[in-house]
Amino acid sequence: MATIFSKIIAGDIPCYKIAENDKFFAFLDINPLAKGHTLVVPKQEIDYFFDLSNEDLAAMQIFAKRVATAVKGAIPCKKVGQAVLGLQVPHAHIHLIPIKKESDMIFSNPKLKLTDAEFCEIAKEISSVFK
Ligand code: AMP
Repeated sequence: MATIFSKIIAGDIPCYKIAENDKFFAFLDINPLAKGHTLVVPKQEIDYFFDLSNEDLAAMQIFAKRVATAVKGAIPCKKVGQAVLGLQVPHAHIHLIPIKKESDMIFSNPKLKLTDAEFCEIAKEISSVFK
């Protein structure tokens, strides 16, 4: 059965898309720790991040770098932090989170409640500076 992220990539489930290329896809996390919290996923359906081939792992990180640069360009923050958990969704993904302090990366922090219009605006701002 396809993962929820494969359904998003296929367009069967809506998302707030940031960018894609032939191998990777980026979209806003629906339960964000911060405005601009973005997920980068491989189109290849693979559960564990470190089961990706060396080549795909490197390519994914380079794609995530482009996404992180766009997030930093669009969202006021000190840095964009990166984390890999994968405890909820069995489809490898990188979290990119705009941060101002260490505690902004704590995953048990309360998640932001954003409106559809806010998600749309954030996605538009980030995707418009993605290169
Ligand atoms: P984890 O697998 O622990 O890295 O967490 C999975 C992440 O995916 C969580 O931060 C969820 O909020 C996020 N997530 C789950 N379903 C969706 C969805 N349909 N759209 C966007 N983000 C999602």
